[in-house]
Amino acid sequence: MIIWRLPASALSALVLLASPAAAVQTLEPEIETASVELITFDSEIAAARANMMANPNLALSHIATAEALLAARPPSSESDLDLATVGWLHAEAVTRLGRPIEARPIAQQALERLGPDPAPTKLFADILVSLGRIDKVTSEYGRAFENYQRAYQVYRAIGDTRSESIVLQSIGSIYNDAHRYRRAESYYIDAMNRHPGDPALDLSANNNLGNTYRELGQYRVSLEHFERARRLAQDMGSSTLQARILNNTASLQVALGELEAASGTIDEAFAIIGDSTSNEWSRFLWGTRAQISYERGDLQRAREEIAHTFDGVSLSDTTQSFREFHATAAAIYQALTLWSEAVPHLHAFKRLDDEAREVAASANTSLLAAQFDYAEQNMRIEQLRLEGSQQDLQLANSQARQRLTGVSAMLVCALVVLLLIYVRHRTSRERQLVLEKALYEDIETGLPSRPAVERAIAGLAMDAGHPVTLIALGIERFKHLKIALGFARSAQLKLAMAERIRANLGAEMVASLGPDTLGIVIAVSDANAVLPAAERIRRCFNNPVTVDGVDIDVAVTAGLYAGTVGEDCVKNAIIAVDQARETSSTAAIFDAVRFGDPDQNLTLMSRMIAATRNGDMAMQYQPKLHLASGRYHAAEALCRWTDSDHGPRAPDTFIPLAEETGHIREFTLWSIEQVVRDQEILRKAGHDISLAVNISGSLISDPDFATLALRIASRRAGRISFEVTETAAMQNPERALENLGKWAAAGIKLAIDDYGSGLSSLAYLKTLPSHELKLDRAFVTDMASSQRDRMLVKSTSDLAHGLGLEMTAEGVETLDSLALLKLMGCDWAQGYVLAKAMPLPALITFLEANADKVVSPEITDEVRSQTGYPAARGTTRG
Ligand code: C2E
Ligand code: MG
Ligand code: MG
Repeated sequence: MIIWRLPASALSALVLLASPAAAVQTLEPEIETASVELITFDSEIAAARANMMANPNLALSHIATAEALLAARPPSSESDLDLATVGWLHAEAVTRLGRPIEARPIAQQALERLGPDPAPTKLFADILVSLGRIDKVTSEYGRAFENYQRAYQVYRAIGDTRSESIVLQSIGSIYNDAHRYRRAESYYIDAMNRHPGDPALDLSANNNLGNTYRELGQYRVSLEHFERARRLAQDMGSSTLQARILNNTASLQVALGELEAASGTIDEAFAIIGDSTSNEWSRFLWGTRAQISYERGDLQRAREEIAHTFDGVSLSDTTQSFREFHATAAAIYQALTLWSEAVPHLHAFKRLDDEAREVAASANTSLLAAQFDYAEQNMRIEQLRLEGSQQDLQLANSQARQRLTGVSAMLVCALVVLLLIYVRHRTSRERQLVLEKALYEDIETGLPSRPAVERAIAGLAMDAGHPVTLIALGIERFKHLKIALGFARSAQLKLAMAERIRANLGAEMVASLGPDTLGIVIAVSDANAVLPAAERIRRCFNNPVTVDGVDIDVAVTAGLYAGTVGEDCVKNAIIAVDQARETSSTAAIFDAVRFGDPDQNLTLMSRMIAATRNGDMAMQYQPKLHLASGRYHAAEALCRWTDSDHGPRAPDTFIPLAEETGHIREFTLWSIEQVVRDQEILRKAGHDISLAVNISGSLISDPDFATLALRIASRRAGRISFEVTETAAMQNPERALENLGKWAAAGIKLAIDDYGSGLSSLAYLKTLPSHELKLDRAFVTDMASSQRDRMLVKSTSDLAHGLGLEMTAEGVETLDSLALLKLMGCDWAQGYVLAKAMPLPALITFLEANADKVVSPEITDEVRSQTGYPAARGTTRG
């Protein structure tokens, strides 16, 4: 047993990385700490914990010693627990050293040490929290949520309210990242109530609440929480934390126009941390000082101060903590007409602003999938995606508004000192202009940006009194072009395309809606009437575009949406581009029905996961005939869902949605588990056939999924195969190759599914370590009557064999097709003419009934005369 010798409330248990200035960061409570006396396994573990916060490198060396001590010890019943503890701390230290990717497998291994179905212990939940934290810092919000949720349930089960409170704060921080501040607020408050009177937790919760209220515009409430957090930090004697919280306060005072107070607060913070240059974090205090000087109109001083903030910092690699300071720096340099110094800050601000929006969007998508609510302990259906993406899109505007609020506050102060009115008004307006430029102009191309389009749509619609249409133009293969052409030339290409559209269409505003998307606003309310214009745009790229004397072929796909709200138009027109691509069309108008109702989608996904648990979802098996031997040596696993309310649901109606929402991961791992178990049952029943599992394309480039799937499937390696679709293999070839290679090396065979439905050449697909090609049923079903299909099947079969692959024909519906396939030398057949998918017991009966049969189809004279194939010998024999 591991014995923790030190009190849980040890000071360094504080987590607490308070946020610098205006950058909103949340505080996540950390693991507990201890101090040490003797060198034993326990003492090394305790030392590792004690140093975790302040010196993760030192913690790592203690962990290494603990590991060595453990290795020297004879194995006992507690070895796995000790190894799990070591692994957990190891992962924590590595995460803190900023290497979460490295930490993840270590934490996962620690979890596995606890066995397949771990008992609800604190260690188990602690590992889950670590995994959650890793997921959060790597923006895997869905998984972070899942891990926090599981941890929360364990802490509840064992009655550990302190840890419950920690997890609630962590969940709150995800809502915070998603800009769902009201929800974040309720989690932070509940966290405090869950385990009251713990200074470390209260400090973290108050600081988090301060940041949240700031975002909600409740500045006074925010100040109160920062003040409470500061007092707690003071009681605990933590000077760095105090200074950081004071910086939050000062930044808020600047926003309120209380410059004297802000200045006093910053002085106090500097006094607390002492030497103002040795503390790495003091650069953020300098940043706030620069904001104050700038607002006072003391530009020279502001310039000197902001230089401290960015001293030794590479402007292209800064983190979110620097975002607002980049804006300040840009404004200062611009006011001093130092353009070349302002520009890199504008670039950095734009980069971080985009990044923050991406994080919010990704967190929101995960929250859509989330089913956890601490208060009700049951699933609540929220309009997360809807609200979330609107908030996301409004973010840029709200930031602009916030700045405006700041400007107004300042002007009020300026009434008191007339001279200051002039200076402040001028500098603020200039700052506003610079920021507007950053917001409304695409930094790479200089084209109007997405917020500019949104603003234009709202204005046009209001003037016209009716909706307007936005055409989004997705540039095909733009990512590849960017790699081939380089950054600068690809921007030139985009500009040249915009020019051509302008010239051909007479459009005034051609904007950049995203990295590979252009947009045009047309003041026509009926999107259908705009379709011919979209077609004209498409055709204007029949001739190549010239960049730097080089001709480049480009193609665009158009998505249209008519509306009055800019954010909706942009979002839906971009979705319409995807909808057009899905149906291989050149243009499409947004189809809301096809896109689905987010509420219903969420319900469907939670029902799907519930179905895997309550038995409504099951795997069924469609036998595959080995044509040369006439025996059933394999089967494909296909999921079947009988929804208690809705009845049977076809995989096509929920698998794509599961891919979109990320639920596919859990679902696929579940399906592999089922198939591995069923294969074992079949083997015991005397039918050691191979079973194929469908692996969704979105998963094959996910390294973690690859590892987990491998772990499950390797139990029956050699008898389990994976089917991946052709298109999936094409999307991210390098990553896919890596994962597929791992599976193949472990003896899991791979099949390329639905071949022919994508656009890849077989020679290219051969670079994947596959052993089987499954020809899409579109070519097979009608092959007996279609000469063209027959030719395609035959030539694909020959080519597959030439490349050393076995070929399977899917969708075989007639005996004639079956006979033809055999004649053509196709290896496997699968289709309704042989059998549909069936439950496992029925499969066993089927295999038993066919055990002594050789299935050998006979080609009829009619088909023979039609196709010119010689007659096949043999029939289905008993
Ligand atoms: P797929 O992997 O290409 O599976 C073959 C589909 O063709 C199955 O449809 C099967 O029932 C159907 N099929 C088989 N023989 C015939 C035939 O003779 N004629 C016709 N018209 N159809 C035939 P199903 O079960 O509806 O599944 C559709 C797709 O959904 C599958 O295509 C696969 O991509 C996906 N899917 C099914 N189960 C799973 C699963 O457990 N996990 C994942 N990730 N995807 C699944
Ligand atoms: Mg398949
Ligand atoms: Mg298929």
